[in-house]
Amino acid sequence: MPVVHQTQEVRSLLAPARAAGKQIGLVLTMGALHEGHLSLVRAAKLECDYVVATIFVNPTQFDADDDLERYPRNTTADCAQLEQLGVDLIFAPATQEVYPDGFTTTIDPPAVAARLEGKHRPGHFRGVATVVLKFLHMAPADIAYFGNKDYQQTLVVQHMVRDLNLPIQIRCCPTVRDPDGLALSSRNQILSTSQRTQAQVISHSLNHAQQLVSSGERDAKAIKNAMQKILSTHGISRIDYIAIADSKTLEEVAQVEDATIVLIAAYIGQTRLIDNQLLTLC
Ligand code: AMP
Repeated sequence: MPVVHQTQEVRSLLAPARAAGKQIGLVLTMGALHEGHLSLVRAAKLECDYVVATIFVNPTQFDADDDLERYPRNTTADCAQLEQLGVDLIFAPATQEVYPDGFTTTIDPPAVAARLEGKHRPGHFRGVATVVLKFLHMAPADIAYFGNKDYQQTLVVQHMVRDLNLPIQIRCCPTVRDPDGLALSSRNQILSTSQRTQAQVISHSLNHAQQLVSSGERDAKAIKNAMQKILSTHGISRIDYIAIADSKTLEEVAQVEDATIVLIAAYIGQTRLIDNQLLTLC
């Protein structure tokens, strides 16, 4: 399985697959791979004839340098896992390849980027949209796979693809969780054992929201208060947001209805985690 670092190499390797009419799948990652990433690769393998995975820790989507430096990296293990799943090509460019000297062009992200993550991490989705568009050009594919774990990011990508008429389909794959409910994230690797225990409360609070809805509660404020209480009881007090929103626009709602989603961003120590759950009415 080739591991390449230059755009030209990716294009030359993809050209014969494309000419042979193969369906090409693309999985974009920042490495430090876990079962969440691998689920996207498996989905791509099921549907496509040729699968490309990328590994690139994108500096422009991080807010603070220390977060970028703390981000886990393990390219050797990542490549071994991808090879085992039968990925056809890995593209792991250096920063200079993605952001050449003199780089100044960026994407103004779609409106849905302004809320939630966008509000708390100014510039984050400009960095995400820009790097995703770059990779869609550097490694042209038919279908790209994204995780619902990063729900708003997936929406931003879908809207960008629609708005810019990009010739690619976007697939949204379900969130993979540890057995205790914690959504898998590369950032989980930097949690201490006690922080890891505390982190599972995030998904418990989402489950509690669903339980309240299942028992007839519809008032978003009441649900958010109940979630906040659970989090604070377990020592989670640094919360960027708990939002109950329309799942298409991420506009916050006062009442839970069909297609409502609950989203959360909270800190466990220095580590910021996000999670979400679609709420079902019955
Ligand atoms: P990242 O490496 O964090 O940029 O994630 C790369 C891709 O994997 C994104 O599309 C994420 O949404 C997806 N992903 C990350 N964590 C999970 C998870 N627990 N379940 C499913 N997909 C995930």
